[in-house]
Amino acid sequence: MHISIITCLPRLLESPFNDSILKRAQTKGLVSVNIIDLREYATGKHKPVDDYAFGGGAGMVLMIEPIDKCITDLKSKRHYDEIIYMSPDGELFTQSIANELSLKKNLILLCGHYKGVDERVREHLVTREISIGDYVLSGGELAAAVVADAVIRLIPGVLSDETSALSDSFQDGLIAPPVYTRPAEYKGWKVPDILLSGHQARIEEWKHEQSLDRTRKRRPNLLK
Ligand code: SAH
Repeated sequence: MHISIITCLPRLLESPFNDSILKRAQTKGLVSVNIIDLREYATGKHKPVDDYAFGGGAGMVLMIEPIDKCITDLKSKRHYDEIIYMSPDGELFTQSIANELSLKKNLILLCGHYKGVDERVREHLVTREISIGDYVLSGGELAAAVVADAVIRLIPGVLSDETSALSDSFQDGLIAPPVYTRPAEYKGWKVPDILLSGHQARIEEWKHEQSLDRTRKRRPNLLK
């Protein structure tokens, strides 16, 4: 898979892809992530990517021209399955969308900033809009990193134990069971006996019950 992330603040996206699972996924060649500086597509002496909003109002708006040039350039190099604009009023991001996107080959994630992008970008240049929640961030960069992370970890081979994504919350419509590690007792707080019993079948049964119980209590909507 290839993910191109278009941003006017590339530095904001440096660290999420340079550590741990996301870095390993790239080193293993399972995904390539290209962070593109929108400014490279700006024209004029000061390379502006934003301007005042027509009709007035506070806040700058990202201009259509550099975004169009950037997307056209990217599309000339490979076919993209989706061109996704990160937007607070987009489709709410869920594990099921992460699953769907993890099956795609090439994705563009477009990050807005300030007041957002010129509406014509949304009307003519993108194929989809995704929100990571009903709140407003200063820019789409953190949202794009969230989407890319959730998608990349689902690509086969990215997680060392391939079944581990399957046992995560939401993946099977349930919340994951609690997990514990050593020591078995800390300050008198004990790990459930069953997990130390060695009876694998009973342990699995316990985990499933815990998942159901947690889902009932925390996300009853998932059981409907
Ligand atoms: N004026 C816009 C908000 C702009 S926030 C409005 O009221 O809807 C600036 C940028 O941050 C947006 O263009 C978008 O790319 C990003 N962003 C903000 N909140 C987001 C969210 N919840 N999910 C995804 N992207 C978000």
